[in-house]
Amino acid sequence: MAKILCVLYPDPETSYPPRYARDDIPVISGYANGQTAPTPKGELGFKPGDLIGCVSGELGLRSYLEGLGHELIVTSDKDGPDSEFEKHLPDAEVVISQPFWPAYLTPERIAKAKKLKLALTAGIGSDHVDLEAAARNHITVAEVTGSNSISVAEHVVMMVLSLVRNYLPSHEIAVKGGWNIADCVARSYDVEGMHFGTIAAGRIGLAVLRRLKPFGLHLHYTDPHRLSPEVEKELGLTFHEDAESLIKAVDIINLQMPLYPSTEHFFDDKKLSQLKRGAYMINTARGKLVDRDAIVRALESGQLAGYAGDVWFPQPAPADHPWRTMPNNGMTPHISGTSLSAQTRYAAGTLEILENYFEGTPIRDEYLIVDSGVLAGTGAKSYKLT
Ligand code: NDP
Repeated sequence: MAKILCVLYPDPETSYPPRYARDDIPVISGYANGQTAPTPKGELGFKPGDLIGCVSGELGLRSYLEGLGHELIVTSDKDGPDSEFEKHLPDAEVVISQPFWPAYLTPERIAKAKKLKLALTAGIGSDHVDLEAAARNHITVAEVTGSNSISVAEHVVMMVLSLVRNYLPSHEIAVKGGWNIADCVARSYDVEGMHFGTIAAGRIGLAVLRRLKPFGLHLHYTDPHRLSPEVEKELGLTFHEDAESLIKAVDIINLQMPLYPSTEHFFDDKKLSQLKRGAYMINTARGKLVDRDAIVRALESGQLAGYAGDVWFPQPAPADHPWRTMPNNGMTPHISGTSLSAQTRYAAGTLEILENYFEGTPIRDEYLIVDSGVLAGTGAKSYKLT
């Protein structure tokens, strides 16, 4: 019998939805790169579209796991030595966590997790796991690659339009009973004709470029691997050999590269000063890609006209985190990849990976990050250990 320790974000503070806004969600069976959506063999323990990403939702895993005689612990109490997470970690064979509410698997915690064999990310982005320590300890790290890429891409498009058109402050004025149009439009522009650049054009970055194409923007990207000439032509892309070249050329910059040691604090005061004055920045990749206080300074000085994203460090962000109150921000909690639609896919993918693990069948290569002591599958392509 295995202990599965699952860390999910807390239940709604209001109440669990007595009825959902919609009665169903579209069925998505595959992704743009030809990968199929998750295909677990067993029954999903939930109805697609239900809220299952929080503690009471349990990703719908309880009946499957208990049916096999395993023990499932689900908690949101993840930080500090007295947390439920640390209490159960020494006995856990599988840890399931999420980027939205990450249970950080540090080298110290991994050293305490003597029975841990599988660290499973219910979503995408396993930087909350120290991959070196996981590799050293022969812990398999897997994530549900592709499950929420479009969810995040849609969020990026929303944030581009919200920032540039000054949507959030204008909405606020309407909510508060105001009607001063000049106040609303004093910072409002059209995106048409602007230059948009993404640092990284992987699954999400490319999906963002595709979705922005009809808006008449000039599209730029940089990525260690250049896209095919066909895709570049179809989208009218300008390729930049490096981020330094791209950031000088664009009005709106999107961060979509993974976080690993060499990309941490990629945007500091120096890099921010190289942007055009009044650039907008979107970051749904990871909070630590940027220097927290440098972003605040750039917004205060006007070097950045706006900053929006859903990724912070640490998560949850403390109540006094300066990004909550900095000027011209469009921050949300980490929500872009956990819409009800995304939850359905990543919970199904979590079940698929658990089925593989307990049946001893191979986990899809695209889901693997670390396996048998080395970076594997998607991990070998997208992550670096140092
Ligand atoms: P992919 O692996 O598909 O794409 C990442 C791309 O980044 C690859 O093309 C990679 O190139 C490129 N890359 C790596 N290093 C650099 C660099 N230094 N500069 C420029 N490009 C670089 O990942 P996804 O698109 O699926 O996800 C990207 C990131 O988004 C994730 O790592 C995660 O942090 C974040 N994410 C956030 C979510 C949210 O809810 N906000 C949800 C899902 C993901 P190459 O392959 O050639 O190395």
